[in-house]
Amino acid sequence: MSGQPSAYGRLMEAGTGDPFDRHVFACAVAIGLGEAPTPLTAALGLSIDDLVAVFAAYFPRAVPMLADLPPDDATTDAPEEPDLRALLLDHRSEGAPAETALAAIVARRSCRSNHLWQDMGLFDRKELNRLLHRHFRPLAAQNINDMKWKKFFYRKLCEQDGLLVCRSPNCDVCADKAHCFGPETGDRLTWG
Ligand code: SF4
Repeated sequence: MSGQPSAYGRLMEAGTGDPFDRHVFACAVAIGLGEAPTPLTAALGLSIDDLVAVFAAYFPRAVPMLADLPPDDATTDAPEEPDLRALLLDHRSEGAPAETALAAIVARRSCRSNHLWQDMGLFDRKELNRLLHRHFRPLAAQNINDMKWKKFFYRKLCEQDGLLVCRSPNCDVCADKAHCFGPETGDRLTWG
């Protein structure tokens, strides 16, 4: 143990604002920093201005760490990412600026390969449930059977576009049910 605080620890120490939201953003930033040399903006799907606004609201004393970010890159990680971001934006609980930023982060991190709670850098799935029910309540409330969150998002996109890719119209008799439901267990991803 070096005694050096983690990026998460430094952010929380320098933080302000709602404790849970601050924790969520600190987790996302910490795991994004761990993906260097990928810029933090690209890891989180945020523009520089959006990222500075998040830091100003939650980690004002850490804003200087954003000084060397490269220019914004508008590319997305997956073709469906803009649709997923729009779905989340359409279902914000309050329409607060934090929810706009979280919609972009959740959409970008949904393109990663692990469970969403892991790729958000969170401690466990319960935190993701809390985040989604707090900030995207009208959408999260529709996940009545506790489907895996990424599967649920894609199911909603399919329904929205009238483009059902499921092998069955009914989850209860679907051969893929085990892929779409389940506890989403695993270890927390380590931060950089
Ligand atoms: S269980 Fe089958 S029907 Fe239900 S969302 Fe998954 S693939 Fe679609």
